Amino acid sequence: MRVLLRDEATTISDGVRVASFDLEGRWMTYFDGRALYKRALAGEVHFRGRAGGRRLRRRLRRREAIAVHEAVLAFAAEAQKGAAAEVRSRLARILSWSPESLDAERDRFLRIYAPISILPPDRYLSVVLQATLGCTWNRCTFCSFYSGRPFQAKDAEDFRAHALAVRGFLGRALALRKGVFLADGNALALSLSRLTGLFDVVEEVFPGQPVYSFIDLYTGERHEEAFWRELRERGLAAVYVGMETGHDPLLAWLNKPGSASELVDFVSMLKGVGLGVGLIVMVGVGGRAFQSAHRKDTLSALSRMPLTRDDIIFLSPFVEDPASVYARRRAEDEIEPIEGEALEAELAWFAKAVRAMGLRAARYDIREFLY
Ligand code: SF4
Repeated sequence: MRVLLRDEATTISDGVRVASFDLEGRWMTYFDGRALYKRALAGEVHFRGRAGGRRLRRRLRRREAIAVHEAVLAFAAEAQKGAAAEVRSRLARILSWSPESLDAERDRFLRIYAPISILPPDRYLSVVLQATLGCTWNRCTFCSFYSGRPFQAKDAEDFRAHALAVRGFLGRALALRKGVFLADGNALALSLSRLTGLFDVVEEVFPGQPVYSFIDLYTGERHEEAFWRELRERGLAAVYVGMETGHDPLLAWLNKPGSASELVDFVSMLKGVGLGVGLIVMVGVGGRAFQSAHRKDTLSALSRMPLTRDDIIFLSPFVEDPASVYARRRAEDEIEPIEGEALEAELAWFAKAVRAMGLRAARYDIREFLY
């Protein structure tokens, strides 16, 4: 049995099983030799495995999650036998948790946060602060991230109380977190005067941390260059934009405002003030009917942006929500979807094409999201 004491986490392994823990002692990942389990900060447990060459993933029911908590704690108890004093004190913190207290973290989380719908995959380890709730538009046909959650913004006082509660919830686990992500969907839609108040709170509660956020084109382009420059100076490091596609008729069919040329101008402005950019492209969206135009116009739009190796093109295999307006419209228009292996092949095509342009490409699978 090996216990690795890192500055930001603890890992236990026995050659088959591996578990990792944050510095508060809460387990984060557990591999039992067959399947991988991930415990979200939100308290849920996600299962990842394979069967017959297929990837399996699902969120465990509460009873199943408690059984995994028990297995992880039993594993940590085994590691305690014969361990050195320094190791024992870390393990004692881990073993101060019970399956029940780990389960109760879910309720504690929900007293601080509204459920967090999505983050970019390279920001899963950020500190998420909900400056706003919902999305200002909320009408893209494919998107159900914020349905039933009208857009609201916290004032500086509420936001400060939220940030302090988040810091208390993370405790020593803050050591593992990198940067602050301002959620939900469009926090940077707020005015500069409101945002500067919120950025002051971020600096007070999480000093020196770079800030990240989503922004959509239709709200982002309304802000002047001076707005972005000011936020850059106050710690904004990069923004993530749901590009979806560079093909304007497809964007319109998705009921998302904007156009490829507006996006090129917007990204040029962001790059001009020194911000990093993450662009999210939905691979397979619009099905076979839009496939070739989506490929061509998306690459064309990307080629016109002053992107560098600091920026990332996130390729998101499109997941259709059967209850969405998108699904209804696709059926009405008799569009054949791109699914399964064909979707993976389409993703590989995009990744190769984006990398051939000298840009960084990364997979963004919303089914893998966890916070
Ligand atoms: S703008 Fe973004 S968050 Fe809002 S509805 Fe569209 S995809 Fe969803």
